[in-house]
Amino acid sequence: MESPMHPAQMVSVRPVRKTAAKPPVGMVLLFGLPGAGKGTQAKELSKMWGVPHISTGDLLRINVAHMTPLGRAVKNIMDRGELVPDSLMKEMVEARLQKSDTARGCILDGFPRTLDQASWLIERLTTLRVSFPIFAVRIHLSRNQLLRRITGRRHCSLCQTTFNIYENPPKREGFCDLDNTALSQRPDDTEAIVKKRFELDAALTAPVIEYFRTRTQFIEVAGDGPVGSITARILAAVDRLSLVQA
Ligand code: ADP
Repeated sequence: MESPMHPAQMVSVRPVRKTAAKPPVGMVLLFGLPGAGKGTQAKELSKMWGVPHISTGDLLRINVAHMTPLGRAVKNIMDRGELVPDSLMKEMVEARLQKSDTARGCILDGFPRTLDQASWLIERLTTLRVSFPIFAVRIHLSRNQLLRRITGRRHCSLCQTTFNIYENPPKREGFCDLDNTALSQRPDDTEAIVKKRFELDAALTAPVIEYFRTRTQFIEVAGDGPVGSITARILAAVDRLSLVQA
């Protein structure tokens, strides 16, 4: 399902390096409505490519958990399912991208989410003349499937395992299979808040996807089926695009 694009419109400047010794490297920007599986795919790609997984939602939640000034500033915004102001997001992402582990790329999950964040990122990458290709990947799933997925999500705060009360329930209701810790639900994973996140996504993030469709290598994949097959769909599309570009 990936879209054709004109090479002149790409921000990426070099083809993916393919050698037996080094895995291909690059930057992946993951898009999809909440619950589409961005985090899961990001972890898979991060392991395979040996580049860090940067989830802005996770970074913000760590700040909230530690009650940092940023965490205090964003907690209520996040609980309401609203977007954190662009200035705070850009500052946080800039600090993370400056770490040396991003030199060969990264998997960005949850950023950019507004046109302001998108143009800031492209400008930053263009100025730095990054040497890796950039792939924008959109994962599709229907809203009904997503709602069930998200409202059913439960997390173990100790080992970070995620369960789903409909599709992957814990053996003992409400408790983690691995360490028996009581499972919790993200405050923004309730039906009313999820619907609001969908609306915001349609209003603010949909134009961002259009922005990348013409500026980076753009891939669309269906988000249903086992985790491994979705990863395989993404990698197959990356391979095809890399061959076109080489
Ligand atoms: P999801 O993709 O399921 O909505 P995330 O974990 O990516 O969840 O994000 C959780 C919350 O963190 C968002 O609802 C928003 O409040 C905040 N957030 C994360 N990334 C961004 C961003 N790029 N811009 C603004 N707010 C963000």
